[in-house]
Amino acid sequence: MSDKKKYDLAIIGAGPGGYVAAIKASQMGKSVALIEKNLLGGTCLNIGCIPTKTLIASASVLHQVKRAAEFGIQTGPISVAYNQMKARKDTVVTKLRKGLEGLLKANHITIYHGSAQFESPFELKIIGKDNLYVSAEKIIIATGSFPLDIKEFPCDHLRILNSTSILELTEIPKTLAIIGGGYIGCEFASLFSELGTQVTILEALPSILTAQGSSIAQFMTQSFASKGIDIRTNTVVKSIENKKDHTQITLADGKTIDAAFTLVAVGRKVYTEGLMLEKAGLKCTEKGFLSTDEYMETDVRGIFAIGDVTGHWMLAHVASHQGLIAASNASGVQIKMHYESVPAVVFTSPEIATVGMTLEQALSANISITQGSIPFQALGKAQASIDIEGFTQIIADKKTGQILGATVIGHEASNLIAEMALAIQNELTLESVLETIHAHPTLAESWHEAAALALNSPINFPPKKHQEI
Ligand code: FAD
Ligand code: AMP
Repeated sequence: MSDKKKYDLAIIGAGPGGYVAAIKASQMGKSVALIEKNLLGGTCLNIGCIPTKTLIASASVLHQVKRAAEFGIQTGPISVAYNQMKARKDTVVTKLRKGLEGLLKANHITIYHGSAQFESPFELKIIGKDNLYVSAEKIIIATGSFPLDIKEFPCDHLRILNSTSILELTEIPKTLAIIGGGYIGCEFASLFSELGTQVTILEALPSILTAQGSSIAQFMTQSFASKGIDIRTNTVVKSIENKKDHTQITLADGKTIDAAFTLVAVGRKVYTEGLMLEKAGLKCTEKGFLSTDEYMETDVRGIFAIGDVTGHWMLAHVASHQGLIAASNASGVQIKMHYESVPAVVFTSPEIATVGMTLEQALSANISITQGSIPFQALGKAQASIDIEGFTQIIADKKTGQILGATVIGHEASNLIAEMALAIQNELTLESVLETIHAHPTLAESWHEAAALALNSPINFPPKKHQEI
């Protein structure tokens, strides 16, 4: 291997972190090499956000069809052709990947297909379809993460699946056990439950969705239970066996549970192995992440890290934003990363979305707060479309009215949260939301009413419900 190429910037990993950074740096006039060992688009496009949300979109059509009679529409027998659902998912992913390839080419980014490892701080060896050395003045590490496999019960990808291999199922399982009640486990639970699978979630902690806070966890536990999802918390899985026609799970207390398939969704591990970080003078944290400063720069000046590998949030849009920051800093224009207004969405049915502080966080920070919470039931639009499950909640500083956090559980929560992300990012107040005219009838009106309630001046809601904390 004697081929050597030189660039202003080399980026390892073409997920939503790496490819966004590549485009930004190229637009800022830099020559950019983007190195990917697998598929362009990374986890998000190929085995994460996009395939899961495509399947979930099909499931939500089924949800609507199932309740067509409630809208006064009669249908015949309903059946699901899961292989067609899967084929649609694969088509969407392929189409978007082709689009991304075109976008990178249009931005004059050189793509190398192969696995990158450090030879020295600013020289990479690429091994794979392309084999060469790439040196660059600046390097961005955007290698992402992969599903955590537990030594005691490794996935065989036949019946014991992870979030990647479950996407290859061609039929709907009759029964599915899900180990781990985090957001990935809960999204799959919601999806397959809608499709008719009997789902059991086994969670070691006292609650599912612990990262989302206790009020969301409580709400979703009840919502899932009402849909027939069996949630067993304080339940530690010891081992899983593939018994050929089903899986058998053994719990820490010795009891066993049978399920046609088991999904292991116990967390993710970041990709740093094989990068030869020591040759660049880099070290991982105890948890295995690459730490950076607010400019996304590692301890080695000129080497940046973004996305899942940094351990911050592990969401595609965070990776992309970090990508913009790192690319700008690597191109000589300094900007800082901030995490105060990161929206986080769980695509269950109903959807969950949060931004900023939760109620618990605000209380434990000893901030004097006021809050307004509006149930979807109270909204004309929710009643019209029978999407009455859920609520919106705004938390604000009582003295200044500045919005500190917002939560929404319900239909279109993923879109609704954008308004509050903008509000928090721009340090807007309850008054700013009140002064903004919201279209009627919409679900977004609930922000207006929640803000009014937090200021104890609701129009469509009795003031006595106002709670000050
Ligand atoms: P990745 O997308 O993982 O990309 C990293 C790339 O680097 C990979 O393509 C990998 O092959 C490549 N790579 C690694 N090592 C090397 C090397 N040595 N040389 C060359 N290439 C290398 N996030 C959301 O925001 N919304 C969602 O709805 C959502 N849903 C999800 C659902 C599932 C099932 C999963 C698993 C994840 C989901 N996520 C979601 C998380 C999201 O996918 C990740 O946060 C995001 O992909 C991280 O982006 P990244 O660029 O850091 O890494
Ligand atoms: P997350 O880290 O958000 O992806 O969620 C993973 C979940 O899996 C966490 O809530 C863990 O408590 C849970 N978990 C991890 N190991 C086990 C196990 N052996 N049995 C049951 N739950 C587990």
